[in-house]
Amino acid sequence: MISPFSNYLLLGISVSQPISSSYQSSEDPGAFAVATNGEPFPWYHLRLPNSVIPLHYDLFVHPNLTSLDFVASEMIEILVRDTTQFIILHCKDLEIMNATLQSEEDLRDKKPGKKLHVLSYPAHEQIALLVPEKLMADLRYYVAIDFQGKLANGFEGFYKSTYRTLHGETRIIAVTDFQPTQARMAFPCFDEPLFKANFSIKIRRESRHIALSNMPKVKTIELQGGLLEDHFATTVKMSTYLVAYIVCDFNSVSGTTSSGVKVSIYASPDKWNQMHYALQASLKLLDFYEKYFDINYPLPKLDLVAIPDFGPGAMENWGLITYRETSLLFDPRTSSVSDKMWITKVIAHELAHQWFGNLVTMEWWNDIWLNEGFANYMELISVNATYPELQFDDYFFDVCYAVITRDSLNSSRPISKPAETPTQIQEMFDAVSYNKGACILNMLKDFLGEEKFQEGIIHYLKKFSYRNAKNDDLWGSLSNVSPMWNYSRLLSLKSCRIITKLAFLEENKIKEMMTTWTLQKGIPLVVVKQDGCSLSIQQERFLEGVFKEDPEWRALQERWLIFFLDLVYLISVYTLDLAEKTTWVKFNVDSNGYYLVHYEGHGWDQLITQLNQNHTLLRPKDRIGLIHDAFQLVSAGRMTLDKALNLTRYLQHETSSPILLKGLSYLELLYHMMDRRNISDVSENLKRYLLWYFKQMIDTQSWSDEGSAWDRMLRSVLLRLACELGHAPCIQKATELFSQWMESSGKLNIPTDVLKIVYSVGAQTTAGWNYLLEQYELSVSSAEKNKILYALSTSRHQEKLVKLIELGMEGKVIKTQDLAALIHAIARNPKGQQLVWNFVRANWTDLLKKFDLGSFAMRTIISSTTSFFSSKDELQEVKQFFESLSAQGSHLDIFQIVLETITKNIKWLEKNLPTLRTWLLVNI
Ligand SMILES: [Zn+2]
Repeated sequence: MISPFSNYLLLGISVSQPISSSYQSSEDPGAFAVATNGEPFPWYHLRLPNSVIPLHYDLFVHPNLTSLDFVASEMIEILVRDTTQFIILHCKDLEIMNATLQSEEDLRDKKPGKKLHVLSYPAHEQIALLVPEKLMADLRYYVAIDFQGKLANGFEGFYKSTYRTLHGETRIIAVTDFQPTQARMAFPCFDEPLFKANFSIKIRRESRHIALSNMPKVKTIELQGGLLEDHFATTVKMSTYLVAYIVCDFNSVSGTTSSGVKVSIYASPDKWNQMHYALQASLKLLDFYEKYFDINYPLPKLDLVAIPDFGPGAMENWGLITYRETSLLFDPRTSSVSDKMWITKVIAHELAHQWFGNLVTMEWWNDIWLNEGFANYMELISVNATYPELQFDDYFFDVCYAVITRDSLNSSRPISKPAETPTQIQEMFDAVSYNKGACILNMLKDFLGEEKFQEGIIHYLKKFSYRNAKNDDLWGSLSNVSPMWNYSRLLSLKSCRIITKLAFLEENKIKEMMTTWTLQKGIPLVVVKQDGCSLSIQQERFLEGVFKEDPEWRALQERWLIFFLDLVYLISVYTLDLAEKTTWVKFNVDSNGYYLVHYEGHGWDQLITQLNQNHTLLRPKDRIGLIHDAFQLVSAGRMTLDKALNLTRYLQHETSSPILLKGLSYLELLYHMMDRRNISDVSENLKRYLLWYFKQMIDTQSWSDEGSAWDRMLRSVLLRLACELGHAPCIQKATELFSQWMESSGKLNIPTDVLKIVYSVGAQTTAGWNYLLEQYELSVSSAEKNKILYALSTSRHQEKLVKLIELGMEGKVIKTQDLAALIHAIARNPKGQQLVWNFVRANWTDLLKKFDLGSFAMRTIISSTTSFFSSKDELQEVKQFFESLSAQGSHLDIFQIVLETITKNIKWLEKNLPTLRTWLLVNI
């Protein structure tokens, strides 16, 4: 699975400790559960018993896309491990019509099944099938269940999605989305990742539709009355959350990989011309992964389907990957280079899951990082290899930087963490699992070397194929291929040379090291102090918001085994002797390590001087790391803001677009903070400073799609910022293009990278805003719709913002799937921030009817409407609201993250506002 939002939106998100309201805590063995009919329910744990395991499901489903319900039946072949009198299955919102049991003998002799007594326990989303006679250990049985249900309204289980054709007709499709715990909404099953089984699926449909599932279709049977029934080949052994089926009327384009796998892209019929990039990318990436993992993709086909209504960004169902339209469809007319980057990334992510996640699955959701961290990390490896022109390693910085902000709060969490209830499990799908997981893997690869790392993961994938694994299994595989290290190495760091000491990598060392990164929360800060020819190096826990001088700081400290200078484990204070005296040192080469570095004494001043004299002596990845670390150190109270700002003074000479983007992002962040708080003298000066300092860069940008991927992304950001800050030439050009576009009735092709800017400037007049809303409804390009929606949300008129929220709540013109992104965009607008905050508080219950509490959507809505606050009154307001929610039984860990973030903002302003004010006066 992948979040629907890019790194910039993936704010701190985490897991809650308490059990959520819909779940009763009945883990106490003295407790008992009562079924809905009043009889005792024989099982009181959230997790299923191990006494019975599923081997095979025969599943038949017949959805009716007119009445919006479905009838279904299944036959589950089970193996009894321990003699038992009941079978517990997961089941949610389904009506069980009949359940029977046959032994192997009954089946052979074609004897009818024995009727089972069914009890339901909705609090645990379980049913119990009580058998008349004991099920005997080591025997196989067959459970047949007839059931029915409604196609769900949200984004989970077996649900309804709709789309509009070019001619304005609304059509309905039926689609599944099961991860993590929603297969039970579509069919009663052993809905835990460890219970892998084979699935044979049959779907009944009308002839105007097609049916898709994990495996290819083996035959279609024509039934009386014109209905058709598709039979799909039996799947490989897999977890329930990976099962998928779709009934729709989509078109497709197909190709074949070099190993003969048929790959198809599906989308609604008017989107044929938007499917080709995805096809090319998925063919390339699938070829790459087969070689890289040295394991062939095990199914004969792979379908990638763009679903009009989808909760996450995409979902890796084996052989039938489902996507949001914006994560799969590339429209040559309206998709920008950032869109291309996103689509490539998401395809790479989901294809990596076909191995990491599907072939080898984590034992339980506490280790979901083994799926998600790896899939995120593999994006880096595979996209770099297949699309080098996208320079994906520069994108990867933000994967790490996005989570560092979160991980430097005390309310962060370890990568592996207990999670039992569905809400807790959903919350595990956060930046810590995805981003930090990927970053520590990248660090480990850097340490072991690419070849050894690759060997290790091949070993892991082969050893655990069609099975489940946990953290230790991964470390075991990586240790297996790692040689004993025993040599000293000369590490050359441009102007300084450092000799590293001997180090040994023993058998268990990888596990010992990595455990400090996966089982404890937070990120280390390496503090370097140079004294003549010797360097003292120390580590501490990096915390923003809690300063070193605060009394609680000491109690929050942790220790990590850091791969430092390639070979040295930094456990406590360490002293290095330099071979020769140097003017500056820079650690964390290429920023591959998941830690920050602070240069005490004159260290930073020497680096700033070097950047100003000749920044090219430091490598680009080191320069970006310095900018990042400096601004984070300011938040941690370890560096003064003027020093960090002075560090950016060399940017006028910087030619690397990713670095310029990083520097700009911090300066822009300061501007937004001042603008939101109405500290107008500072925000005005910042505006003047930005437009003056980057003037030449802004004015030399062409309004086109020319250049490298990163030059194009820089252009988008520079021009957007210039127009937002009211730079006259920018607004003039955008206005001109917008008028031409309107005059052409939306037919004029505007360069894709500036499209959002042109729309945003156009949206500032009432005529422009209204016209954009009309085009929004008509457009069949989700890439364009996204840009229009963003533009509409930048209006300075509150009544227009209110209208957008109403449309988002109604879910017709603006789809419910886009509501969270809409709220996020409005919250970004100073005129809209208070509006959406009030809205969220007043409409909390209605929002919960649309989205699960732990969903990406709800967590985004909460964090985006609150995380920017920076006053004590606002903190109080947010606190009160969260307390009222907790009192109603809604609790998320993100509440704590938000409160800590606001507290940090308050502290930041108190400490740094005077410095910022003065610095601007001196530097303009
Ligand atoms: Zn994923």
